[in-house]
Amino acid sequence: MKIFAMAVAAIFGICIFSFLNVIIYRVPRKLDWVKGRSMCTSCGHQLGVFDLVPIVSWTFLGGKCRYCGEKISSRYTIVEALGGMLAALSVWFFGATPAAILVFAFFSVLTVTAFVDLDTMEIPDGFVWAAGICGIIAVFLMPEVSIVERLIGFLSVSLPMLLITLAIPGAFGGGDIRLVAACGLFLGWELNLLAFFFAIVTGGIYGIYVLAGKKLGKKDHFAFGPFLCIGMVISLLAGDTVLRWYLGLL
Ligand SMILES: [Zn+2]
Repeated sequence: MKIFAMAVAAIFGICIFSFLNVIIYRVPRKLDWVKGRSMCTSCGHQLGVFDLVPIVSWTFLGGKCRYCGEKISSRYTIVEALGGMLAALSVWFFGATPAAILVFAFFSVLTVTAFVDLDTMEIPDGFVWAAGICGIIAVFLMPEVSIVERLIGFLSVSLPMLLITLAIPGAFGGGDIRLVAACGLFLGWELNLLAFFFAIVTGGIYGIYVLAGKKLGKKDHFAFGPFLCIGMVISLLAGDTVLRWYLGLL
C-alpha cells in the first residue's frame, strides 16, 4: 500500500516539478510565469503536448528540440526526476498524510529557491515568505515540533548569521539569512541547526572542489542558498535519525 502511495506521489511530484521548471526559468527573467505558452528557448517554437510530457519527452526526443534540433538542457529533466524522488520520500517518511503534502510543498519552495539562487545569486523575498507560510501551517499539521521550538528555530541560526555578517560584511547574503529564519519556523531549532551544519559541509566540499579546479578564485563568492536548501531537505528527512545516533554516542 505504501509503495503504491509512493508511486502515485512520485508521478504527482514529477508533474508539479515540471511546472516549477517554468518558475525557475521565468522568475529570473522577469517573465510572467502563469500566462504564456511554453516555447523552445532556442527557436521560440511553441511546444505541443508531446514536447511537454515530463521526463518522457526529453528522453524520446534525445534531449533535442523537435523543431530546431537544438540541445535542451538536461536540467529540466533532472528537476522533474528530483520532484518524483522528493514526493516519494515525503510519503515514505511522513506516510500518506496532510503532513507529507506540506513537506512536499516545502521541498518545492526550496527547489525553486535553490535554482533561482544558483542562476541569479539572489533569493526573492516571495520564496522566503512561501517557506515561512509552510512553517506556520506546520504548527497545525506537524504538532510534534512545538511553537516554542519553531520560534527559537526562527532565530537560532539566522541571528548568529546576522551578527557574523555585521562583523564581517558580505559573510552571508541577506536572502540566505531570511531563508534560514523562515525555514527555522518549519524545522524547529534542532533540525534547523543540523540543516545549517549540512549546508556548511556540502558547501565546503563544493568550495574545495571549485578552488582545486580553479573555477573560482579565493575571493569569488558562490551562491550558498542551494546548500542551505540541500541541508534543509537532508535534515527534515534524516535529521531525527542523525540526532538520535549522535546523542547515543555521548
Ligand atoms: Zn527549438
